Amino acid sequence: MNGIIKAGLVGLGKIARDQHLPAIEQTGGIDLVAVASRNAQADGVNNYPTLDAMLAGEPDMDAVILCQPPQVRYEAAREAILAGKHVFLEKPPGATVTQVEALITLARAQGVTIYASWHSRHAAAVADAKAWMAKRKVTRVSIEWREDVRHWHPSQPWIWEAGGFGVFDPGINALSILTEIMPEPVTMLAASLEVPANKQAPIAASLKMASASGAPIEAAFDWRQTGKQTWDIAVETQDGKLLLSEGGNQLTVDGEVMVQAPEGEYPEMYRQFVQLVKDRAIGADIRPLQLVADAFLCGKHCPTAAFED
Ligand code: NAP
Repeated sequence: MNGIIKAGLVGLGKIARDQHLPAIEQTGGIDLVAVASRNAQADGVNNYPTLDAMLAGEPDMDAVILCQPPQVRYEAAREAILAGKHVFLEKPPGATVTQVEALITLARAQGVTIYASWHSRHAAAVADAKAWMAKRKVTRVSIEWREDVRHWHPSQPWIWEAGGFGVFDPGINALSILTEIMPEPVTMLAASLEVPANKQAPIAASLKMASASGAPIEAAFDWRQTGKQTWDIAVETQDGKLLLSEGGNQLTVDGEVMVQAPEGEYPEMYRQFVQLVKDRAIGADIRPLQLVADAFLCGKHCPTAAFED
């Protein structure tokens, strides 16, 4: 590596096109040299039909960015790490907790970086919310993450299949912010999952959690919301109330807007990835995935009406 990371991306779907390609373009220290896609081609880079072919055709490639659905992430990440490449994982970093733990162990053994990205943690107001909460005693947290699945995930059958996470695909973004801003560990206590009769994954979920010192934390995730979309985390403390809205991009404290900024999550993630590779470090916090796994483990499954997406 001559200082610039030569990267190959796998899975040229919605998030790769909307966010990864433009973010790589504007980040110093990393260049996209290749793409592996079964169905599509990217301009200005070498294109391959599979990760195998990309690894064989690009011996000088330093890093692999995985943007496929979580069900196929583990095998691809394993192959890339064993080939000696640094790996950037889209969220969620795997379909199970043990998959991601195995990848971290393998990356350490191979001396490469693994980055489990959580884009919502880089929303504009998250760092300020974390700093505000660090000085206070949290007494209650209430999360509402309600969006229209037909709008955000059209033609994505994988999201409804086993390992596709269903409403936890967006819900894990809320949990990634929660685990970032909470000054104490979070424990899953109970969950209720609404699963449509024709799907394998939940369309809605309600979660009961608690902080280590006993503050109640509730979350409602729902994919059936049309009209205004809601991505809110409300925090009560002994010393004021905070509302993190717009998916972490707006911060209101005691009714006064403190931060309001457009989203710029992916360029920030690429800056972090470049630094991790420079340091040969591991950046893989699995707490959001662990909470989702726990919700599936303790969750009451409530069948609900079939849903046509
Ligand atoms: P998508 O549009 O369905 O794209 C996923 C791509 O992965 C497909 O286009 C396909 O690319 C490739 N792929 C490889 N194996 C596949 C398989 N077995 N089934 C389906 N596709 C397969 O999905 P996406 O919205 O980009 O989401 C991909 C990942 O990014 C998910 O983990 C999601 O949580 C995360 N993410 C999505 C968003 C968003 O707004 N959509 C936001 C943040 C994170 P090829 O045809 O090129 O092989």
